[in-house]
Amino acid sequence: MSAFQKTEAIRSWGRVQNGPHWAAAPHWRDEIPALLGEQAPARAAVLATGLGRSYGDSGLNVGGRALAMTRLNRLIAFDPATGLLRSEAGLSLADLIAFCVPRGFYPPVVPGTSYVTLGGMVANDVHGKNHHAAGTIGRWVTAIDLARSDGSQLRLTPTQHADLFSATIGGLGLTGVMTEIEIRLRPIQSANMEVEDIPFANVEAFFDLARESEGSWEYTVAWIDCVSAGRKLGRGIFTRARHAADGPLEAGPAGARLSMPIDLPRWAFNSASIGLFNEVYWRRKAQRRGTRRQKLTKILFPLDSISRWNRMYGSGGMYQYQCVVPPDSASDAVRALLAQASAAGEGSFLAVLKTFGGVASPGLLSFPMEGATLALDFPNRGERTLALMERMDRVVAEAGGRLYPAKDGRMSSAMFKSGYPNWRRFAAHVDPAFSSGFWRRVMA
Ligand SMILES: Cc1cc2nc3c(=O)[nH]c(=O)nc-3n(C[C@H](O)[C@H](O)[C@H](O)COP(=O)(O)OP(=O)(O)OC[C@H]3O[C@@H](n4cnc5c(N)ncnc54)[C@H](O)[C@@H]3O)c2cc1C
Repeated sequence: MSAFQKTEAIRSWGRVQNGPHWAAAPHWRDEIPALLGEQAPARAAVLATGLGRSYGDSGLNVGGRALAMTRLNRLIAFDPATGLLRSEAGLSLADLIAFCVPRGFYPPVVPGTSYVTLGGMVANDVHGKNHHAAGTIGRWVTAIDLARSDGSQLRLTPTQHADLFSATIGGLGLTGVMTEIEIRLRPIQSANMEVEDIPFANVEAFFDLARESEGSWEYTVAWIDCVSAGRKLGRGIFTRARHAADGPLEAGPAGARLSMPIDLPRWAFNSASIGLFNEVYWRRKAQRRGTRRQKLTKILFPLDSISRWNRMYGSGGMYQYQCVVPPDSASDAVRALLAQASAAGEGSFLAVLKTFGGVASPGLLSFPMEGATLALDFPNRGERTLALMERMDRVVAEAGGRLYPAKDGRMSSAMFKSGYPNWRRFAAHVDPAFSSGFWRRVMA
């Protein structure tokens, strides 16, 4: 009998893409070679999966096999003298933080949620609000154990199987199954951060604040009111933060305090309700200036306090559009993208703007490059939303930018290939037994 069982539809985080899989959830690393070698069902392509926080189809393999990695979540070794930590790839970031903060350490790069696995973080070479200082997570990975469908189990490091190492970092799970990962944690003195919020009037003011802050603030990010047009276009709140020099080393309770109990109905999302939210949020934040101390988990993972917040967008789901554009064209491109969203009346609650620094990403398919990254959530309104994102694609492509596969469920093959010029070199490392919805689409 096959270890793979047919599932109900598995949904991506954005909930637009979904479908049944043949899933297996190994308990032990040494089960993986046999699972990869299973011929049933019908030699379907395979993909390892983490906590399902990718928005589109890069973490889905509908009709194929899925290896759910979350039971492989054991810590293997930690050296407090060097900060080197080795664990199974299914360890969640929340569990990693609960382990390392009381010991005076912290992951060098974290995404905007702690409900991801280490394997998922490496497969998307994730960036954090400290990209200008730390680069991507892949820069801190010292070794990866990779199981391939030909039965080989390889230890990859920056010098051992170096090309496969850089294909696996940001490699969207397509080069094999990461079973163990070793990363270097950074020391911290406190679980608190010093934080400052600064309102700004427009896109130019955002770039001035980013330039001024990057030398002395390790974390920077801005919320943008993407509904306002005209003189208010691109106004927002700039948040900068750094680890406090002293204070308690308690990570704080993990887990959500609230839960979204139902899918909100579609009518809850119209330009009036989204405009009202943006206006109220702007006014509330703009009044509260000055620095404060806050738990790092609260600053770095604001959405984790509401479980299943993605249901807020209703049963139709949502798209997240995240692009990066290079420095020379950043200001014009960001203004053009915000103008497109505002003119289409497709404003978003969550619009985030951040500069990426010049630290090179180690992965062949890593998303971050120097410039500015803009992320916007759009409730799925079918053709209308897709047409808007196609118009935005043209702005990004003309600016020499690219889209983030972890957030994507619809970019064209041409958009992918123009944004990722290394794609051919990468494709040579893809394990022939592996695939995903994303990969089938962009390679079509
Ligand atoms: C609220 C929120 C905020 C976010 N903020 C950020 C952010 O600030 N920066 C950022 O970069 N990203 C961000 N993301 C995206 C998220 O970090 C990535 O999608 C991440 O890869 C999700 O990890 P996961 O464990 O859920 O993996 P999944 O979504 O389940 O899978 C993601 C990829 O990892 C691969 N994978 C997982 N485990 C393994 C393994 N063991 N071996 C091989 N491949 C594997 C899968 O095949 C897939 O390609 C955010 C997502 C959410 C929901």
